[in-house]
Amino acid sequence: MMVSDIVLERVIFMDKYFEEAVNLAKVGVENNEGGPFGAVVVKNGEVVGRGNNKVLINNDPTAHAEVVAIRDACRNLNTYDLTDCIIYSTSEPCPMCLSSIIWSNIKTVYFSSDRKEVSSIGFRDDLIYKYFEENKKDILNATKCENIKCNNLLKEYKNTIY
Ligand SMILES: [Zn+2]
Repeated sequence: MMVSDIVLERVIFMDKYFEEAVNLAKVGVENNEGGPFGAVVVKNGEVVGRGNNKVLINNDPTAHAEVVAIRDACRNLNTYDLTDCIIYSTSEPCPMCLSSIIWSNIKTVYFSSDRKEVSSIGFRDDLIYKYFEENKKDILNATKCENIKCNNLLKEYKNTIY
Protein backbone atom coordinates (compact mmCIF):
# COMPACT_ATOMS: atom_id res chain seq x y z
CA MET A 1 0.00 0.00 0.00
CA MET A 2 1.46 3.36 -1.03
CA VAL A 3 1.41 6.43 1.18
CA SER A 4 -1.24 8.04 -1.02
CA ASP A 5 -3.43 4.93 -0.58
CA ILE A 6 -3.09 5.19 3.18
CA VAL A 7 -4.01 8.89 3.06
CA LEU A 8 -6.96 8.12 0.78
CA GLU A 9 -8.16 5.33 3.08
CA ARG A 10 -7.93 7.71 6.03
CA VAL A 11 -9.94 10.37 4.20
CA ILE A 12 -12.61 7.81 3.30
CA PHE A 13 -12.84 6.71 6.94
CA MET A 14 -12.94 10.31 8.16
CA ASP A 15 -15.72 11.00 5.67
CA LYS A 16 -17.69 8.03 7.05
CA TYR A 17 -17.45 9.38 10.61
CA PHE A 18 -18.28 12.92 9.57
CA GLU A 19 -21.28 11.60 7.64
CA GLU A 20 -22.59 9.85 10.74
CA ALA A 21 -22.06 13.03 12.78
CA VAL A 22 -23.91 15.08 10.14
CA ASN A 23 -26.79 12.62 10.12
CA LEU A 24 -27.08 12.78 13.91
CA ALA A 25 -27.14 16.59 13.69
CA LYS A 26 -29.81 16.59 10.97
CA VAL A 27 -32.11 14.23 12.88
CA GLY A 28 -31.64 16.37 15.99
CA VAL A 29 -32.63 19.55 14.14
CA GLU A 30 -35.63 17.79 12.54
CA ASN A 31 -36.81 16.69 15.99
CA ASN A 32 -36.16 20.18 17.42
CA GLU A 33 -33.66 18.75 19.91
CA GLY A 34 -31.08 21.50 19.40
CA GLY A 35 -28.68 23.18 16.99
CA PRO A 36 -27.08 21.68 13.86
CA PHE A 37 -24.21 19.92 15.58
CA GLY A 38 -23.22 16.24 15.71
CA ALA A 39 -20.27 14.22 16.99
CA VAL A 40 -19.05 10.65 17.16
CA VAL A 41 -16.39 9.07 19.37
CA VAL A 42 -14.33 6.38 17.61
CA LYS A 43 -12.12 3.67 19.14
CA ASN A 44 -10.12 1.27 17.00
CA GLY A 45 -12.19 2.25 13.99
CA GLU A 46 -15.50 1.58 15.71
CA VAL A 47 -18.03 4.24 16.67
CA VAL A 48 -18.44 3.90 20.45
CA GLY A 49 -20.32 7.13 21.21
CA ARG A 50 -22.85 9.25 19.34
CA GLY A 51 -24.21 12.69 20.07
CA ASN A 52 -26.13 15.60 18.68
CA ASN A 53 -26.95 18.91 20.28
CA LYS A 54 -29.78 18.35 22.80
CA VAL A 55 -29.82 21.76 24.48
CA LEU A 56 -33.48 22.43 23.63
CA ILE A 57 -35.04 19.04 24.28
CA ASN A 58 -33.16 18.52 27.56
CA ASN A 59 -33.32 22.16 28.71
CA ASP A 60 -29.59 21.68 29.24
CA PRO A 61 -27.13 24.35 28.05
CA THR A 62 -24.30 21.82 28.44
CA ALA A 63 -25.84 19.20 26.14
CA HIS A 64 -23.57 19.98 23.19
CA ALA A 65 -22.98 17.23 20.64
CA GLU A 66 -19.45 16.48 21.84
CA VAL A 67 -20.49 16.25 25.50
CA VAL A 68 -23.45 14.02 24.60
CA ALA A 69 -21.15 11.79 22.50
CA ILE A 70 -18.53 11.58 25.29
CA ARG A 71 -21.20 10.63 27.85
CA ASP A 72 -22.55 8.00 25.45
CA ALA A 73 -19.06 6.55 24.85
CA CYS A 74 -18.30 6.47 28.58
CA ARG A 75 -21.60 4.70 29.27
CA ASN A 76 -21.03 2.19 26.46
CA LEU A 77 -17.43 1.46 27.46
CA ASN A 78 -18.19 1.68 31.20
CA THR A 79 -15.31 4.07 31.87
CA TYR A 80 -14.57 7.76 32.39
CA ASP A 81 -11.30 7.43 30.47
CA LEU A 82 -11.48 7.68 26.68
CA THR A 83 -7.73 7.32 26.07
CA ASP A 84 -7.09 6.07 22.49
CA CYS A 85 -10.41 7.43 21.27
CA ILE A 86 -10.82 10.06 18.55
CA ILE A 87 -13.74 12.46 18.34
CA TYR A 88 -15.20 13.76 15.09
CA SER A 89 -17.35 16.85 15.34
CA THR A 90 -19.28 18.65 12.60
CA SER A 91 -18.03 21.98 14.03
CA GLU A 92 -15.08 23.23 16.05
CA PRO A 93 -15.69 22.29 19.68
CA CYS A 94 -16.48 25.27 21.92
CA PRO A 95 -14.31 25.83 25.01
CA MET A 96 -16.65 23.72 27.18
CA CYS A 97 -16.44 20.83 24.73
CA LEU A 98 -12.68 21.21 24.33
CA SER A 99 -12.41 20.96 28.11
CA SER A 100 -14.66 17.88 28.15
CA ILE A 101 -12.54 16.28 25.45
CA ILE A 102 -9.34 16.97 27.40
CA TRP A 103 -10.92 15.75 30.68
CA SER A 104 -11.85 12.48 28.94
CA ASN A 105 -8.22 11.96 27.78
CA ILE A 106 -9.10 12.06 24.09
CA LYS A 107 -5.99 13.29 22.28
CA THR A 108 -7.34 13.86 18.76
CA VAL A 109 -10.30 15.83 17.52
CA TYR A 110 -11.27 16.38 13.91
CA PHE A 111 -13.79 19.10 13.10
CA SER A 112 -15.16 20.64 9.92
CA SER A 113 -16.74 24.11 10.33
CA ASP A 114 -14.68 26.47 12.46
CA ARG A 115 -15.69 28.92 15.20
CA LYS A 116 -16.11 31.82 12.75
CA GLU A 117 -18.54 29.82 10.62
CA VAL A 118 -20.45 28.81 13.77
CA SER A 119 -20.62 32.44 14.92
CA SER A 120 -21.85 33.54 11.51
CA ILE A 121 -25.07 31.55 12.00
CA GLY A 122 -25.72 33.05 15.44
CA PHE A 123 -24.00 30.81 17.97
CA ARG A 124 -22.01 32.47 20.76
CA ASP A 125 -18.65 30.69 20.87
CA ASP A 126 -16.93 34.03 20.24
CA LEU A 127 -18.27 35.36 23.53
CA ILE A 128 -16.42 32.70 25.50
CA TYR A 129 -13.15 33.23 23.65
CA LYS A 130 -13.57 36.95 24.29
CA TYR A 131 -13.99 36.23 27.99
CA PHE A 132 -10.75 34.23 28.06
CA GLU A 133 -8.86 36.82 26.06
CA GLU A 134 -10.17 39.98 27.70
CA ASN A 135 -11.57 38.69 31.05
CA LYS A 136 -14.65 40.86 30.55
CA LYS A 137 -16.66 41.12 33.79
CA ASP A 138 -19.89 41.81 31.90
CA ILE A 139 -19.62 38.33 30.35
CA LEU A 140 -18.78 36.54 33.62
CA ASN A 141 -17.78 37.79 37.03
CA ALA A 142 -15.55 35.09 38.53
CA THR A 143 -14.02 36.12 41.85
CA LYS A 144 -11.76 34.23 44.27
CA CYS A 145 -13.29 34.33 47.79
CA GLU A 146 -11.28 32.66 50.55
CA ASN A 147 -13.36 30.27 52.65
CA ILE A 148 -11.70 28.10 55.29
CA LYS A 149 -14.20 25.23 54.95
CA CYS A 150 -13.61 25.05 51.19
CA ASN A 151 -9.85 25.16 51.64
CA ASN A 152 -9.96 22.52 54.39
CA LEU A 153 -11.90 20.22 52.08
CA LEU A 154 -8.87 20.03 49.81
CA LYS A 155 -6.45 19.54 52.71
CA GLU A 156 -8.58 16.73 54.17
CA TYR A 157 -8.80 15.03 50.78
CA LYS A 158 -5.05 15.35 50.28
CA ASN A 159 -4.44 13.76 53.69
CA THR A 160 -6.69 10.78 52.89
CA ILE A 161 -4.92 9.89 49.65
CA TYR A 162 -1.25 10.64 50.52
ZN1 LIG B 1 -19.64 22.84 22.87
